[in-house]
Amino acid sequence: MTMLSRRAFGLSLAAGGVVLGAAATPLFAQTSTALPPAVAGASLGAYRITAILDGIVPLGRPFFQGGEEVDAFLASEGLGPEALPAPISAFLLQSADRTILIDAGMGDVEAFGPGFGRLTAGLAALGVEASDVDTVILTHAHPDHLGGLVLAGVPAFPNAELVLSEAESAFWTDAAMQAAAPAEAQGLFQLAAGTLQAYGTRVTLVQDGAEVAPGVTLHVSPGHTPGHGILLIDGGDRQMMMIADTVHSADLHTALPETGFGFDVDTALAIQSRLRLFDEIASDKILVTGSHLHFPGFGRILPAGDAYRFVPATLG
Ligand SMILES: [Zn+2]
Repeated sequence: MTMLSRRAFGLSLAAGGVVLGAAATPLFAQTSTALPPAVAGASLGAYRITAILDGIVPLGRPFFQGGEEVDAFLASEGLGPEALPAPISAFLLQSADRTILIDAGMGDVEAFGPGFGRLTAGLAALGVEASDVDTVILTHAHPDHLGGLVLAGVPAFPNAELVLSEAESAFWTDAAMQAAAPAEAQGLFQLAAGTLQAYGTRVTLVQDGAEVAPGVTLHVSPGHTPGHGILLIDGGDRQMMMIADTVHSADLHTALPETGFGFDVDTALAIQSRLRLFDEIASDKILVTGSHLHFPGFGRILPAGDAYRFVPATLG
């Protein structure tokens, strides 16, 4: 059962400034909005996947649950308690006849201050126009993934079909769910529902296991959000699992995978989904990438002692 508590939305963090639609104080002052684009690509066979850095979010210790075990791990790794910076990555997936975007970054949504929305510059650097994008696959409807879908009030990708899981859309457009949610979560619901509305008839809702593009399958891995989707991308030569927000810290969440994250809608279910997926991808040794793994996020999650570790891979 989904529990709409303040904690469920990470809203115990509100004092730190993470409040949408309010006069939030950025946790971390980013001095330039004109940062150069950062992109890194890999061939998967029929597809080329390119990670595009939208921004870096300064996740601090309070975003993560857990006690002394977490503190001791961070200290042992030289990770300061004040910040665990996490990239926000979107991915371009290109084939001979398709231009697909996986998530769209933060756009002009102000939740963490300036310095986000670099997806636009990243696409330009790759020679891709917004109008070239035929499909946007949305892993889930949080602002760091859908914020860039609507820019200055209009759909940023005028020709794109917007694909997401039916469960994800159902949660964020459920009036009763929104009414039951705390005041601080209203901005999240409004942003998600408004974005889906902006794409109107171009929204396609899919079930768990649906093939959303040739060789690309969406699997619902719930908990972080009720319809949180991960993607198995099979380009023929290589397979890659895009694990979205299964991981919010590549270091901490692999070493201590039972650590809850403040923005999980259902923390216990998110942990269960993380453990199940880690078990699978570690035994398959499949390539992975993710929204918040160390940029560009290409690598493997492998067993290490009782837990796991993220091992980056350099791919051409
Ligand atoms: Zn995220």
